[in-house]
Amino acid sequence: MTNLAQTPLSDRLRALVDTVQHNERTLRRFQDVELRLIGAQDFASFLDTLFAHLPQEFALASVSVWLDDRTPMLRDLLDPGALRALDLHNLKTSREGGFAASRLCPAGRPWLGRVSAMDEVARVTFFGAGTVPASAIVLPLAAGDKASGYLCLGSQDPARFGEGMATDILERFASIVTASLDNVAHRERLKQLGMTDSLTGLANRRYFDERMREEIQRAARYSVPVACLFIDVDSFKRINDTYGHLTGDRALAAVAACVRQQVRLGDTLARYGGEEFAALLQGDRSDALVAAERVRHAVELLDLQDDNGERIVLTVSIGVAARTIVGGGLDAAEMGQALMDAADRAMYLAKNNGRNRVEVAGD
Ligand code: GH3
Ligand code: MG
Ligand code: MG
Repeated sequence: MTNLAQTPLSDRLRALVDTVQHNERTLRRFQDVELRLIGAQDFASFLDTLFAHLPQEFALASVSVWLDDRTPMLRDLLDPGALRALDLHNLKTSREGGFAASRLCPAGRPWLGRVSAMDEVARVTFFGAGTVPASAIVLPLAAGDKASGYLCLGSQDPARFGEGMATDILERFASIVTASLDNVAHRERLKQLGMTDSLTGLANRRYFDERMREEIQRAARYSVPVACLFIDVDSFKRINDTYGHLTGDRALAAVAACVRQQVRLGDTLARYGGEEFAALLQGDRSDALVAAERVRHAVELLDLQDDNGERIVLTVSIGVAARTIVGGGLDAAEMGQALMDAADRAMYLAKNNGRNRVEVAGD
């Protein structure tokens, strides 16, 4: 009788396992780049991830991008003055470049193959006039059916990008590049409007209150719930007193970054006051409670150190409030204020009940 445990893996199975392991490693490296893109605080660091980090991680000969400067969200980012300041040869915006790229990718499908088979305008757009890589892939950056840009990856290996090759991982990557670009454009816009807090990089209270009004109106229109979290750092005065104001500032920035990671990219998070943050979530009370608990737990685990390398323990108390708004004739500003007041009261309840807690507002 054959002993299955001793049966050597067949060559085919071994090859399959190798492929799966290789794909897994590739995915993990992509995730790392994706997290950097999603977390980018400004356009310059977003581009740096694409142009410096990505080629290094994936042994690419070139990475270049064409962006449509008529896309409303991108208009300010791609203003000639702003572009000159960035001085990047692999970021292009020329109209002809866009036409050439869209001809390569009819119906929004990626193009891949030998660079020598590309038409000249596309080639110059993506690689300039000098030496070109052997093979490349051009991926549309599109949220709907209209591409706001194209991402081109080039390789010295003529067989790296070729017809018939699976492109699902790269297409997924392109959709994350698109979403992150949108996010970073939004961030830059807020900065220009004076709606960001410089210590934490989060939106400020003015922006939050405005978004709250819009969100209440939207929630009323579609009869969907809206929820908010009021997050207050526990005994923060003691942190300042113990470690000094500078370390206190660093702690606040760390808490902000930590909370940011626990809410969705589309959720609004703001520094609402000194050591207070507010989050606006799409979801009902139980969704908000789950998010609040995740935030509380993440801050508790935050690995922050003082100047001597000692761990600083930080916790937050969180108040949760949620409403489904029905009927018209509402005053959105007033309702937003009422929702924040309820979350604030719940936060105080969490303080009274011992801190490092989540409490939810009653109806
Ligand atoms: P509680 O658990 O009740 O919230 O106690 P607390 O000490 O956090 O509350 P309190 O409101 O008494 O103190 C808040 C402290 O936060 C006082 C203030 O100096 C500090 N703070 C506010 N803004 C900043 C800032 O930008 N940087 C630093 N380092 N500290 C700040
Ligand atoms: Mg406070
Ligand atoms: Mg506090």
